[in-house]
Amino acid sequence: MDKIYYFDNAATTRVSPEVMEEISKYFTESYFNPSSIYTQAQKCKEVVEKARGQVAAAFNADPREIYFTSGGSEADNWAIKGIAEAYSDKGRHIITSAIEHHAVLHTCEYLESKGYEVTYLPVNKEGLISVEDLKAAIRPDTILITIMFANNEIGTIQPIEEIGKIAKEHGIIFHTDAVQAAGHIPIDVKALNIDLLSMSGHKIYAPKGVGALYIRKGIKIKNLIHGGQQERGRRATTENVPGIVGIGKAMEDAVAHMAEETERQRKIRDKIIDGITSKVDHCWLNGSREHRLPGNINISFEFIEGESILLLLDMNGICGSSGSACTSGSLDPSHVLLAIGLPHEKAHGSLRLSLGRFNTEEEADYVIEKIPPIIERLRKMSPLYEEFIKSQNNK
Ligand SMILES: *Cc1c(COP(=O)(O)O)cnc(C)c1O
Repeated sequence: MDKIYYFDNAATTRVSPEVMEEISKYFTESYFNPSSIYTQAQKCKEVVEKARGQVAAAFNADPREIYFTSGGSEADNWAIKGIAEAYSDKGRHIITSAIEHHAVLHTCEYLESKGYEVTYLPVNKEGLISVEDLKAAIRPDTILITIMFANNEIGTIQPIEEIGKIAKEHGIIFHTDAVQAAGHIPIDVKALNIDLLSMSGHKIYAPKGVGALYIRKGIKIKNLIHGGQQERGRRATTENVPGIVGIGKAMEDAVAHMAEETERQRKIRDKIIDGITSKVDHCWLNGSREHRLPGNINISFEFIEGESILLLLDMNGICGSSGSACTSGSLDPSHVLLAIGLPHEKAHGSLRLSLGRFNTEEEADYVIEKIPPIIERLRKMSPLYEEFIKSQNNK
């Protein structure tokens, strides 16, 4: 197989060798149901509890506050629907942001159809919400604030500490979708006053199909998945033992290497951003330079389509993304890019490259070399660009 240059780690990551090594026996040798009584099954129960401890430790939570799910989407759905239902006697108003992942946005829209009211906070051109807007949106019947820790498209990190403080002052529950942040930046749920937090395994080198929801002790929540007594009666289905072992190991590894890995990715990130924006005209970085995930690059190129950039990158073995994985395949531009104020035609020409553990400096050099001629080639075929050049010449 030809070498691939994988720059789509915000969509999913490969399972790390360390995680693979740890989990493989739980598919074959040690396949028992943790609820069964014999010794081998009890061993499987133990490893599930070990993983719960590993995830809890990463967030400064208690293991009893961690519940395993099937992924980030389920964690978001459970948090939002479960709180909305449990606290509906107190109120039916929810505050979120305009740039959430669809797992949050579409859940909020669903609740609107059930009679809840939702305020979608706008963001500035860097993708940050304003805490003043948040304070102004709070009402006596507000029961939940759900704002993502870091954005999956443009990498913007929200002022989570301030949001947590405001939520606490007003006695409102605070949930954060931390799927892009967990394992990448430090998170202390106690210091940040976070009541619920969603994460996913496959964004941090564990398998797909496993996630976790942190639910602070004392928070009431309705179940999403009804059935058996797994997860202390809060989430039914036989435990995904290999997935759970994987997410525990991945989280532990991520925390152990976080400082050095952040530094390394930030360097590669800035090299690519500077390398491309210095060589190509009429392009810019989306999102915040300062409050940014270490592995996120999102650049808009005027006059061309993100999809055509992806096709030419693909021909060179480079995997990237345009908008989010969920929006590609549809013609609508990304709701995140529209929310930061890009007009439709400019929102179409964006490229996201997201870094991970396995990206190297050499791969960065390759990307920096390949992209400028690709942009030039696409612009030569672009009627928009032709028009622009004509208008420049007529000046
Ligand atoms: C990937 C992602 C999700 C969904 O996680 P899954 O495990 O794929 O369901 C939710 N929120 C954000 C911010 C994400 O990046």
